[in-house]
Amino acid sequence: MPYSYEAPVSQTLFDRASLVTPGGVNSPVRAFRAVGGTPRFMVSGTGPYLTDADGREYVDLVCSWGPMILGHSHPEVIAAVQEAVSRGTSFGTPGEGEVALAEEIVARVAPVEQVRLVSSGTEATMSAIRLARGFTGRAKVVKFAGCYHGHVDALLAAAGSGVATFGLPDTPGVTGAQAGDTIVLPYNDLDAVRRAFAAHPGEIACVITEASPGNMGVVPPRDGFNQGLKDLCAENGALYVSDEVMTGFRTSKAGWYGVDGVTPDLMTFGKVMGGGFPAAAFGGRADVMAHLAPAGPVYQAGTLSGNPVATAAGLAQLRLLDDAAYEKVNAVSREIQGLVSEALTKEGVVHRLQTASNMFSVFFTGAEVVNYDDAKKQEAFRFTAFFHSMLAQGVYLPPSAFESWFVSTAHDERAVERIAAALPAAARAAA
Ligand code: PLP
Repeated sequence: MPYSYEAPVSQTLFDRASLVTPGGVNSPVRAFRAVGGTPRFMVSGTGPYLTDADGREYVDLVCSWGPMILGHSHPEVIAAVQEAVSRGTSFGTPGEGEVALAEEIVARVAPVEQVRLVSSGTEATMSAIRLARGFTGRAKVVKFAGCYHGHVDALLAAAGSGVATFGLPDTPGVTGAQAGDTIVLPYNDLDAVRRAFAAHPGEIACVITEASPGNMGVVPPRDGFNQGLKDLCAENGALYVSDEVMTGFRTSKAGWYGVDGVTPDLMTFGKVMGGGFPAAAFGGRADVMAHLAPAGPVYQAGTLSGNPVATAAGLAQLRLLDDAAYEKVNAVSREIQGLVSEALTKEGVVHRLQTASNMFSVFFTGAEVVNYDDAKKQEAFRFTAFFHSMLAQGVYLPPSAFESWFVSTAHDERAVERIAAALPAAARAAA
C-alpha cells in the first residue's frame, strides 16, 4: 500500500473502518481514492493545525471543507459550545439560540427576509427546491454541470465534488423520474439558460447555482453571469436559488451576495454558519418562505433542526466574523496563493490558480477554467504527486483536484512558513 508507512495507526483504523463502513469513510472524498494512500484519521485540531492518530501535525488547508474559518478549537466557539451543552443537548422545542442565529443571518444577508434552519447543506438545497416547486407550481429545475448541491437525488446529475473526483456516471440509485425534471447546463453559459427557458415555457420552477462554484475546483461566475440568471428567472417566472453552502459567510460577511450584490429569491447556507457543527439553512423572500409549513402547505421538518449546541457554535463563530476577520483570511489566502504559484512556476509546471475571495484552487492546465469540461481537462496526476509531497511534509490539502482549498484567521506566519517550506519539493514532484 503506497504511503501507508507514514501512517500506521491511521492505516489500522482505516482497516477497522473498512470492515464496518463502506469504503472506510462516512463521506466519499475523505477516502483518498483519487490520490491513493491512507486517509489520515485526525484526533485533534488547534488553530491552523490538525494532528493525526500517528501524532503527526499538519497545516490544514481543508478546514473541514470550509466551516473552520476561525481555525480549530477557537476558544470562544468552544466556550459557547460548552455553555450550551451544559444546559442539555436537544429539546425538540423552539429555543432562543435558533432565533438569535436566524436574526444574525437575516441581518447579514439582505435578500434573506426569513430563514429556516436545518442540519445539512443537502437538506437546505433539497428543501429550497421543494419550496420553489411548491411556490411556482412547476416541476423543472435547472442546475449547472460541475455544481454540487449535496446528495439530493434530483441534483446529483453532473455534480462536482466527490462525483467529479471519482468520475462517477450519473448516479445509480437515482431513478429517471427523480432526475427527469432536472435540466443540466454548462456553467457560465447564459445562452444555454436562455435556450432552456425557450424550450420549456412555464415549466421551470428555479435555476439553482453555486453562488461561486468551488466543487469543480474554484470556477467563479463570469461578470454578469449571476445577474443574467436572476434576470432570466424574473422574466420567466422562475426563482433564482443561490447555493451559498460553501461561500456563505466565508467569501464575505454576507457571503458571495456581499461580493456580487445579485439578489436571489432563495439562498442556502451551511458550513461556516454551523461553527463545525451540523447546522445549515435556507431562506429568502418572505412571500416565498410563507409557503412553508406550518404557515403554508409545503412540508419540511427536522428532529434536530436548530439544535441548541449547533446554533450556539454557529452564532459564536458568526459573531467573531467581522470585517477585520475577513481581511485577515483574504490576506493570508492571497499570500499562500502567491507562494503556490511561484513554486509551480519556478519548476515550469503549467497551472492556473483560480480564486473567489479567499477560496482558491490550482488547476494543472494552462487554459482558463470556466466550466466543468474545462476543469476535467486538467492533468490531475500532477495534483496527486503534489498532494502527496505536501502531505509527507505536513501540509494537508483536499485529496482531490476538484476541490477548493480553505484557510482561516488562524493561519499565521508560522503556518505560512511551513507551507512555503513544503512547496518547492511538491512543485518538483508535480513537474
Ligand atoms: N451545496 C454546496 C455548494 C456544497 O459545497 C455542499 C457540500 O459540500 C452542499 C451543498 C451539501 O452540504 P452538506 O455536505 O452539508 O450536505
